[in-house]
Amino acid sequence: FNVPTPVNEPVKSYAPGSPERKELQAKLAELRAIQVDVPMYIGSEEVRTGKTRPLSPPHDHQHILGHFHEGDASHVTQAINAALGAKEAWENLAWEQRAAIFLKAADLLAGPYRAKINAATMLGQSKNAFQAEIDAACEIIDFLRFNVKYMTEIYSQQPPVSGNGVWNRVEQRPLEGFVFALTPFNFTAIAGNLPTSAAMMGNTIVWKPAYTQIYSANVLMEVFKEAGVPDGVINLIYVDGPTAGDVIFKHPDFAGIHFTGSTGVFQTIWKTIGENIKLYKSYPRIVGETGGKDFVLAHKSADPKAVAVALSRGAFEYQGQKCSAASRAYIPSNIWEDVKKYLLEDLASMKMGGTEDFTNFINAVIDEKAFDKISKYIDNAKNASGVEIIAGGNYDKSKGYFIEPTVLLTQDPMYTTMCEEIFGPVLSIYVYNAEHFETVLELVDQTSPYALTGAIFSQDRYAIEMATSKLRNAAGNFYINDKPTGAVVGQQPFGGARASGTNDKAGSMINLLRWVSPRTIKETF
Ligand code: GLU
Repeated sequence: FNVPTPVNEPVKSYAPGSPERKELQAKLAELRAIQVDVPMYIGSEEVRTGKTRPLSPPHDHQHILGHFHEGDASHVTQAINAALGAKEAWENLAWEQRAAIFLKAADLLAGPYRAKINAATMLGQSKNAFQAEIDAACEIIDFLRFNVKYMTEIYSQQPPVSGNGVWNRVEQRPLEGFVFALTPFNFTAIAGNLPTSAAMMGNTIVWKPAYTQIYSANVLMEVFKEAGVPDGVINLIYVDGPTAGDVIFKHPDFAGIHFTGSTGVFQTIWKTIGENIKLYKSYPRIVGETGGKDFVLAHKSADPKAVAVALSRGAFEYQGQKCSAASRAYIPSNIWEDVKKYLLEDLASMKMGGTEDFTNFINAVIDEKAFDKISKYIDNAKNASGVEIIAGGNYDKSKGYFIEPTVLLTQDPMYTTMCEEIFGPVLSIYVYNAEHFETVLELVDQTSPYALTGAIFSQDRYAIEMATSKLRNAAGNFYINDKPTGAVVGQQPFGGARASGTNDKAGSMINLLRWVSPRTIKETF
């Protein structure tokens, strides 16, 4: 019943002149030179509705990478039927066969598809090469391999006591019905993990990605097919959210949702499921990771340089579009001048531009809607009293949706940008009296409804202990002397509570257990 514990997929450097850089550059050029025609995948069919919409790089929105075929309510029904039709054969397939498919998918992504999935993520979602590599290559590979390991552990866990004419056992049944995977743009790995983790446990899936991630979702689907995922097990549809929800949440066979996205959408889904609860055969599994307003808190004993690096990386990697991004910081007055100096130096070294130029650290935000929302927060800050813009503040959407990494210094710890999720390259900093650490702990805990990630920087074990205990419920992933982004599968299971989600830890046994419904069997001889 066992597979060896995997090791994390090594991150490639893409150093100048390296073979991996050459291969990736060639793939970027190849993909830019063609236009792909992206169908939906329902059962054994590639569905082309003829109602096409363009796919463009956010950093070069006039360039066309291809088109996808949009569906309507009838395609949602078809996808549900395909999932239900494929269910019996899939759930009766031995777990080793399912494991082999997903291990092969991981190997395909690690080898022959690595350049393609990275290039698709760089072009379609404007991630730089490093951010693509840790997401679209390493993290999805790790999700697949570690989840197979966790799956075998789940299947081998049995009640400890049997004997004397009795054999007790537990059968981990898949859920009765289909699972809906609703996935975000910001991680290709999450888009791949949400359908595959539920499928691995014997469920069949309707998968609806964010429209802004369809370009790389199509490559993932190509990999899943080549790895041997049977027709109908994962059905990929492009239908607008309300239309899809209207069919899915009113279906008696709806068995669960695996979600990553905004808090607002998740709460609406939860309410809709509640309203329809009597329709379903079982109480649906609701697993969701949503927003964050993640903090970096420094104590007066903190190393200013380490704090500055955590802020520049934690807040501005992938343009701040990570649920885990550092977006509010609390810096003690005694180290502020040094933190500021190092932070501004680091920001000055970050070049902004398209992902094809590997020297650019900052790329574009995902689309015009995000650009408009983020730039409005910056404009409001420009006009607010007690708020100073100490870095960035400019934006331009003429070629791509570019926003400079922007740092706001606020005298009011409750200023909007300290409380609301912006999901973009905007960091807000509050400088506190270095002797008032305990008051600040209270503030960090109470300022936002979210509780996803957070970090404490300190060289003082008493301060670390105090922060760890007082902020117990303020973050599902808590970092001591490290940035709050970049959780690694198999090392830091990821997820938050409060308004940030159900905390079912992506890449863990906890998550996989949500996709089974155990049956206890007692047999008497
Ligand atoms: N797991 C990612 C990290 O630790 C964040 C995932 C997300 O943005 O949803 O940075």
